[in-house]
Amino acid sequence: MAKTLPKTDVVVVGVGWTGGIIAAELTKSGLSVVGLERGRERKTEDYFMVHDELRYSARYGLMQDLSKETVTFRSDEKIRALPMRSYGSFLLGDGLGGAGVHWNGQTYRFLPYDFEIRSKTIERYGKDKIPAEMTIQDWGITYDQLEPYYDKFEKMAGIAGEPNPLGGKRSSPYPVPPMKTSPSMKMFTDAAKKMNLHPYIMPSANLSENYTNPDGIARAACQYCGFCERFGCEYGAKADPVVTVIPVAKKTGKFEIRTHSNVRRILKTGDKVTGVMYTDVTTGEEIVQPADIVVLTSYVFSNVRLLLMSGVGKPYDSASGKGVIGRNYAYQVIKGAASGFFEKKEFNNFAGAGALGSVSTITTETTSITPT
Ligand SMILES: Cc1cc2nc3c(=O)[nH]c(=O)nc-3n(C[C@H](O)[C@H](O)[C@H](O)COP(=O)(O)OP(=O)(O)OC[C@H]3O[C@@H](n4cnc5c(N)ncnc54)[C@H](O)[C@@H]3O)c2cc1C
Ligand code: SF4
Repeated sequence: MAKTLPKTDVVVVGVGWTGGIIAAELTKSGLSVVGLERGRERKTEDYFMVHDELRYSARYGLMQDLSKETVTFRSDEKIRALPMRSYGSFLLGDGLGGAGVHWNGQTYRFLPYDFEIRSKTIERYGKDKIPAEMTIQDWGITYDQLEPYYDKFEKMAGIAGEPNPLGGKRSSPYPVPPMKTSPSMKMFTDAAKKMNLHPYIMPSANLSENYTNPDGIARAACQYCGFCERFGCEYGAKADPVVTVIPVAKKTGKFEIRTHSNVRRILKTGDKVTGVMYTDVTTGEEIVQPADIVVLTSYVFSNVRLLLMSGVGKPYDSASGKGVIGRNYAYQVIKGAASGFFEKKEFNNFAGAGALGSVSTITTETTSITPT
């Protein structure tokens, strides 16, 4: 029999960027928030002098342990979905801060076109250009509506960069200057300019200089150590939820984080969600956390699975195209890559950062060179 705890205003399921941002904003506005995170506590001190490539890069030390819990995958609906036993292209975050701890920090804004991709495509090329089986749709929100929140995020995270010359309107410049220019970035920029393109330095959550954000959180500048992706930052220079939004939420005294808490069901009465049921994975105990508001912030895979398992919303049926839960998942835009050999060039690749690069927007596409 599950133990039932006292009701809270809000429960967030998973404490990565999404859960952390929601917790900070809602606690600042006076609500009490419980954060349920299936993984362990994480802090900057965990990474002091530990660039352990075997642990973090080869063995995915900060990611979901697939030997304990995995996702199933199939390439079309006629075959049986099988469990993934080793990681492919996508890596699932685990523990406080989620994938935000081991991300690179490349922080582009969508272009205005991206938000209205269907209607703008039709406007320019006609309806016939969109194949019947293609499910693209407008986001239902425009760039201009979201712009103040991009601005807020960039100030909170201390994004370093220079504006995309072909990007949407901005209400203010980036809060810190761009990252340093490496030799390969300079080569790319010079070549792009010769081709009449519009290169700019990639927006980066790796701080280019010491910075204190509007919440009063002070962080140190990036050391260009190159251990961003798959690693936590030992300097706190890479913006992640643990060094930005989570301490702000905690300081209000209204945010309670429970790690090792794996949410298994969303609970509801009729059409109204009433809380969640989770397992304390250290004891196996089942616990019910009632809440006025349940926010799913456990990354799309876990969000969709929880909604399907709990019978909330209409599941997507690829045959009929009906339903919304599980529709249109896209992990990442596929990027092309090219390699080259350059004689008598010193690239100094021993130094770099996860979001150090020069980029250029070509109509709706972005090309980039990231020398890490
Ligand atoms: C190696 C890598 C590099 C990346 N680099 C970039 C980049 O440069 N730029 C960029 O924009 N994006 C990047 N991304 C993607 C980006 O990090 C993620 O999109 C983002 O962090 C997702 O945030 P989230 O809060 O939605 O989910 P997550 O960060 O995944 O957080 C979800 C949390 O929920 C927890 N959880 C899951 N299920 C449950 C459950 N049932 N009960 C309780 N807790 C649960 C998880 O343990 C996790 O902590 C990168 C991702 C990876 C893996
Ligand atoms: S490259 Fe910079 S931001 Fe990335 S881990 Fe190293 S010091 Fe941190």
